Amino acid sequence: MYKLTTRNEKETIELAQNIESEKFPNMVICLEGDLGSGKTIFTKGFAHALGIEEDITSPTFNIIKEYPNGELPLYHMDVYRLEGRVDELGLDEYFHKGGVVIIEWSDMIQEYLPDERLEIKIKVLDDAEDARVFIINPIGRQYEELCEAVL
Ligand code: ADP
Ligand code: MG
Repeated sequence: MYKLTTRNEKETIELAQNIESEKFPNMVICLEGDLGSGKTIFTKGFAHALGIEEDITSPTFNIIKEYPNGELPLYHMDVYRLEGRVDELGLDEYFHKGGVVIIEWSDMIQEYLPDERLEIKIKVLDDAEDARVFIINPIGRQYEELCEAVL
């Protein structure tokens, strides 16, 4: 388990870029944290590092947005409004498409997540408006190696 603090949006983007530098096909990143904690900012940083030029917005109403034009395809999900319709998503398919899956509010679909994944919990600190604590838990050897390499 790794714990690090970013002091502003830019540092969160840099953290995402560092993790992106060790990306691999079928990687799954699970983001937990309250509204406004920085899940989408993290995803933006990751997407831009992948070479995706489109604007990344939270796919709350679409649930899944696909960005096929980066070094690896990115599947960005926000499952906040999914409300139990997990089966309709064909979620499992996305874990094996050879791209990177990033899931906002992943704790809401905990039982559907793959066994191996990078779990990231983001906490907002009360005392400093722009500080965020990232608690990063690699589950599985590939994710452990990734963290050892970049964190
Ligand atoms: P979420 O997707 O978790 O709801 P967003 O990423 O959309 O949150 O929004 C995070 C907000 O917090 C942005 O307005 C961003 O500028 C701000 N912010 C302030 N400090 C940070 C930080 N350290 N890391 C990420 N975002 C930050
Ligand atoms: Mg969001």
